[in-house]
Amino acid sequence: MADEKRDYYEVLGVDKSVSDDDLKKAYRKAAKKYHPDLNPGNAEAEKKFKEVNEAYEVLSDKEKRARYDQFGHAGVDPNFGAGAGGGGYGGGFTGDFGDLGDIFSSFFGGGFGGGRQRNPNAPRRGNDTAAAVNLSFEEAAKGCKKTIKVTKIDNCKECGGSGAEKGTTPKTCPVCHGTGQVASTQRTPFGVMQTQTVCDHCRGSGKIIDKPCRVCAGKGRIRHTVEQNVDIPAGIDDGQVINLRGGGDAGVNGGPSGDLRINVNVRPHPIFERNGYDVYCEIPITFTQAALGDEIVVPTLDGKVKFTIHEGTQPGDEFKLRGKGIQRLHYSGKGDQYVKIAVEVPKELTKAQKEKLKEFESALGEKNYKKRKSFLDSVKDFFNE
Ligand SMILES: [Zn+2]
Ligand SMILES: [Zn+2]
Repeated sequence: MADEKRDYYEVLGVDKSVSDDDLKKAYRKAAKKYHPDLNPGNAEAEKKFKEVNEAYEVLSDKEKRARYDQFGHAGVDPNFGAGAGGGGYGGGFTGDFGDLGDIFSSFFGGGFGGGRQRNPNAPRRGNDTAAAVNLSFEEAAKGCKKTIKVTKIDNCKECGGSGAEKGTTPKTCPVCHGTGQVASTQRTPFGVMQTQTVCDHCRGSGKIIDKPCRVCAGKGRIRHTVEQNVDIPAGIDDGQVINLRGGGDAGVNGGPSGDLRINVNVRPHPIFERNGYDVYCEIPITFTQAALGDEIVVPTLDGKVKFTIHEGTQPGDEFKLRGKGIQRLHYSGKGDQYVKIAVEVPKELTKAQKEKLKEFESALGEKNYKKRKSFLDSVKDFFNE
């Protein structure tokens, strides 16, 4: 069986026993590497990007992955074997398949052999396509509307998808009578077998077009770039994928469109960091504020919040602002914001300032520096002093 597709595990550079987490990591890494935004105009990268997305779509789905592990590409691709231009498995047997036929149909739910006896006029689903959207931290946290450019295949509007010049219609192929296949009889060591091959006259399409449409050159379909509006849900995170049902390539012969899979990239924020739905930020205060306590202003995604830090606040002390985090994706409720205190030690002091500090320090005793005292005691114990 001709199989030009690369192994999905190989595509993502992982081995078969890979965990869900590692699979996700490998996917993110590869998706970033081949991202169209980072490789503008690079057709090879675009191909790789699609390959990576396809591999992840299958391997991240338990059921699909199991089928893939057992049957390879044929287990997960309903069009497998259909091949471009009707080659590959296209000439499959119609002779006596015996038990084998039953085995195949039980394996593939009857869908096996897209290539054997495929009706060229049967509806087929369009391919899934991939795109990317770049968001700011806030856009991802709060949701927004975006318009992105997407390259996809649509049915040609000029000819309505028929491929024939406006005002004309394609004729049914007189050789194969529209089936796209012709039967031929062959002698083989197993006896006489009847095989189906692709009709040369219409190249498997079942139709003959006398005057091709000028817009699509008779293909009935065109690849073009369109603007696609996307609703970005609040709470989406870097590396996640938005699936836009029906946003992919148009279906053939009235089949449904594929999906558009939009990879989400979120730019880092200068103040905030994100972990799940919680937001983290670090706020520098002076050591006088730390020693005396103060009311400080804390930035949050919902605006500024006042917060009182108590006397004797230490560097690294953390407090939580409940519900000031990020909206949960597709659920109600928000995460929390964690604020970490950093104490900034003053620099470039004048001589007079230094004198005052020394004077101040000499007025302090062990009870002011309990942490230091207990540390020094431990050091003494350690050295048996
Ligand atoms: Zn034909
Ligand atoms: Zn056309």
